[in-house]
Amino acid sequence: MRSKDRISYFYDGDVGSVYFGPNHPMKPHRLCMTHHLVLSYELHKKMEIYRPHKAYPVELAQFHSADYVEFLHRITPDTLHLFSHELARYNLGEDCPVFENLFEFCQIYAGGTIDAARRLNNQLCDIAINWAGGLHHAKKCEASGFCYINDLVLGILELLKYHARVLYIDIDVHHGDGVEEAFYFTDRVMTVSFHKYGDKFFPGTGDVKEIGEREGKFYAINVPLKDGIDDTSFTRLFKTIIAKVVETYSPGVIVLQCGADSLAGDRLGCFNLSIDGHAECVKFVKKFNLPLLVTGGGGYTKENVARCWTFETGVLLDTELPNGMAAPFCFYLVCKISDTVDFFLDLAKKVSRSQMLTTIYILASVAIYVVYLCELHLGSINSNFDKWRGDDRNN
Ligand SMILES: [Zn+2]
Repeated sequence: MRSKDRISYFYDGDVGSVYFGPNHPMKPHRLCMTHHLVLSYELHKKMEIYRPHKAYPVELAQFHSADYVEFLHRITPDTLHLFSHELARYNLGEDCPVFENLFEFCQIYAGGTIDAARRLNNQLCDIAINWAGGLHHAKKCEASGFCYINDLVLGILELLKYHARVLYIDIDVHHGDGVEEAFYFTDRVMTVSFHKYGDKFFPGTGDVKEIGEREGKFYAINVPLKDGIDDTSFTRLFKTIIAKVVETYSPGVIVLQCGADSLAGDRLGCFNLSIDGHAECVKFVKKFNLPLLVTGGGGYTKENVARCWTFETGVLLDTELPNGMAAPFCFYLVCKISDTVDFFLDLAKKVSRSQMLTTIYILASVAIYVVYLCELHLGSINSNFDKWRGDDRNN
């Protein structure tokens, strides 16, 4: 059964295959895991699935400076050594490394958020989802905090063509500084960010005293929080503030950044939210029945990110998923394959060729033995696996 809302969901498998490098906490494979979990719960049958267009450089330059976009387009891991001056200028390096297919990665996640905004503008859907988007730290002329292109700013600029007022809400554990900065001087976008503040936590901005300037004064709201905030305190604050904001600001459309690094147990985060608590915020925003653009964001414990965003896809579809998200076997398999791929990519940078080959040999032997045991005991898995892959192709 379809939800009464028309939902558009954007996904391109190519975003899941880029690799930020050894020990980098950002693992784009979490997007592939999320998508597989969405498929295994058959949520794809209740919404329209689109492959986003790859945003053109000229579209990216609607917010970013043309020289920065051009540089992102041109730079490759092989030509890094020729551009040390530019790398420093555009803040590329440890946090925001240059990797294979970096520009295409940016084009896809930005294209998804732009497409989502356009479908909402044309009233072709009520809710649009792009879990690959939500890279809220990127600035006009520089990369920041694992973000290169600010898809949220680009999406909001698109929404401003049709809406007088856009409300931006951010529940990532980090301050949504890039989006706030872009609209700091205007009253046409109200930004509300809930985040950890203090103890030199990244990015260091987001004090309650930052409220916007000139026409934008009072149109930036910051809710600085301390470590360990739990579901009860967070959702109470969230509901009180957002209810008042929607009532007084009366936005035409809402953009919700659902960074999952605010979940308990995140590799970089320090909050204590459960998936239920996090999703409660999504549920609350959905209830306003305004056009809604939902994106991902941070999230560095991959299994939790995939569970959270799948659960929230369910919330947006009015579909209840099993409590605790007991993941089906195929999801478990995808997680393990993902960990193995990461493990080898990390290993490849650290050890010699012969050490690497020995490790592969031992692990391959173990894997073959495990597969043999699985085939022996779990013969039915293949038929289920084929079933949902078949469904995927038909949709
Ligand atoms: Zn974050």
